[in-house]
Amino acid sequence: MTEYSESEQVIRRLYQITNDYDEGFDNQLKSILKMGLERFHLDIGILSKIKDNVYVIKQCVCPDEVPLKPGNQFELGLTYCSVTCNSDTHLALEEVGKSDVLGKHPAYMEFGLESYIGIPIRFKGEIYGTLNFSSSAAYPRKFKDIDIDSLQLMASWIEVELIRRHQEKLLIELNRRLEEKASTDSLTKIPNRRSLYKHLRKEVNRVNRNHSRAALVMIDIDHFKKINDKYGHQTGDKALIAVARVLQNALRDYDFVGRYGGEEFMLWLPEVEPGQIDNICARLMKDIAEISLLKEPMTISSGICAFSCATPYIGSVDHMIDRLTAKADQQLYEAKSAGRNCYRLELIRAHEIE
Ligand code: GH3
Ligand code: MG
Ligand code: MG
Repeated sequence: MTEYSESEQVIRRLYQITNDYDEGFDNQLKSILKMGLERFHLDIGILSKIKDNVYVIKQCVCPDEVPLKPGNQFELGLTYCSVTCNSDTHLALEEVGKSDVLGKHPAYMEFGLESYIGIPIRFKGEIYGTLNFSSSAAYPRKFKDIDIDSLQLMASWIEVELIRRHQEKLLIELNRRLEEKASTDSLTKIPNRRSLYKHLRKEVNRVNRNHSRAALVMIDIDHFKKINDKYGHQTGDKALIAVARVLQNALRDYDFVGRYGGEEFMLWLPEVEPGQIDNICARLMKDIAEISLLKEPMTISSGICAFSCATPYIGSVDHMIDRLTAKADQQLYEAKSAGRNCYRLELIRAHEIE
């Protein structure tokens, strides 16, 4: 085969392997190592990672009788790759024993590998490790330009892929953080209204379909404006944070609390019996009164809509949430009108929601 068609073949094969993303990075690496082994007529193909003078096998392809596998570690000085990394370019030796570079190297004394071709792999300007192929038998021919070109092409793909995977990981993490930020109230660090509604849509639907029951509680801090006026906005913020923490700590695992807006919070209490609601409200009021931030205890008013889905509601879940919220809001208004520091509750049947 001419060198031209050989290189065409190398490029085509590499293109096939590197485009096969469905295979996953590890399998793609293995295919590249196999391709290298066939190309160079050698036995052992390794992608190594080098850190603090330790050589770690990230991926390898070798005969059954060679006991190498990913995760194996060696002292860097005991590998030919220590020389490859220092030379900063590829290293290709057909008969290591006869070479000046490695003939007396401790790695040769230790493992006696006769042929070796390797190249450094870089990641963000630093040495990441090496791509190397070796064999205990001496290589019968000279390594040709096309061999070096192939090695460089394989190494380039690995380098690009390492960067791409690193950036992908950063993007996934960034997206996770953005998603978290978008659903968390920046002041109190509890779920914001958007996240509350997302939760409600899922949960109200579940409760309705399971013929179960739940309660929606709208909580509003009493005379919060006066707290701001008397202690300043910053202390007002601290009070909001303290109330949010109390609400979060007081709830059962499956309950949910979100900041509805301003000094208003909303609780979702799934599967709660009407009798339990009194206990929950009494406990919340007590815990909030015990917050020691201000000279006087803080009080809250709450409006509750407790509903049973023994006969489920058949309209849209969004409408159901709107109605439940409006009823809780109405009860909150009643509580405020009754002098604050109290709660009012309305019990409804889901199928009677108009
Ligand atoms: P009521 O007992 O009737 O609920 O009286 P209130 O003063 O609590 O009610 P109002 O709705 O008149 O006032 C709420 C106040 O909450 C007004 C607003 O400035 C304040 N507020 C809303 N969001 C924040 C915030 O993030 N930080 C602080 N410090 N204050 C806030
Ligand atoms: Mg309010
Ligand atoms: Mg208020």
